[in-house]
Amino acid sequence: MSYPNDNVEVKNNDTWRSDNCPADAVTLGRAAWVMLHTTAAYYPDRPAPSQMDSMRAFMKSFFENYPCLGEDLKREMEEEPIRVGSRRKLSDWLCRQHNKVNAKLGKPMFDCSKVFDRWLQGYSQICDE
Ligand SMILES: Cc1cc2nc3c(=O)[nH]c(=O)nc-3n(C[C@H](O)[C@H](O)[C@H](O)COP(=O)(O)OP(=O)(O)OC[C@H]3O[C@@H](n4cnc5c(N)ncnc54)[C@H](O)[C@@H]3O)c2cc1C
Repeated sequence: MSYPNDNVEVKNNDTWRSDNCPADAVTLGRAAWVMLHTTAAYYPDRPAPSQMDSMRAFMKSFFENYPCLGEDLKREMEEEPIRVGSRRKLSDWLCRQHNKVNAKLGKPMFDCSKVFDRWLQGYSQICDE
């Protein structure tokens, strides 16, 4: 592994940067949402009480510890208690939480009825290729 401080060609190489530089808000955010939505998409349809407790604790801790989460957004996200009763309820809740961040950043709202198309089965066969 080399750290070529003055090598302009390497500094401008996105692959090198993404593999070696600290994550910015976009890189971290995308990775975080992939992990969260995928976790919710594979959560059971009928979770056991222990799974519900565990998921509740995980999400609470995740959002409490997410770096630099603004107080306003944190308050807004805490307004709606987490729904852990099923895969659908958890995924819809998370979709609405993500939409609160989207709204704050001026991004388009995501249609939560499509959350399993996006995170579980894929919109089209292209996703299987
Ligand atoms: C808890 C949290 C707080 C954040 N706060 C900030 C902040 O204050 N400032 C900042 O600059 N960035 C913040 N981010 C990062 C920000 O949300 C985005 O991840 C980042 O801007 C990259 O956006 P993106 O357009 O690539 O798509 P992302 O928002 O990262 O979404 C990734 C993919 O998820 C899908 N998607 C979009 N919305 C939804 C939804 N509602 N439900 C399901 N799937 C959806 C889309 O297919 C999209 O391509 C935060 C991230 C997290 C996890």
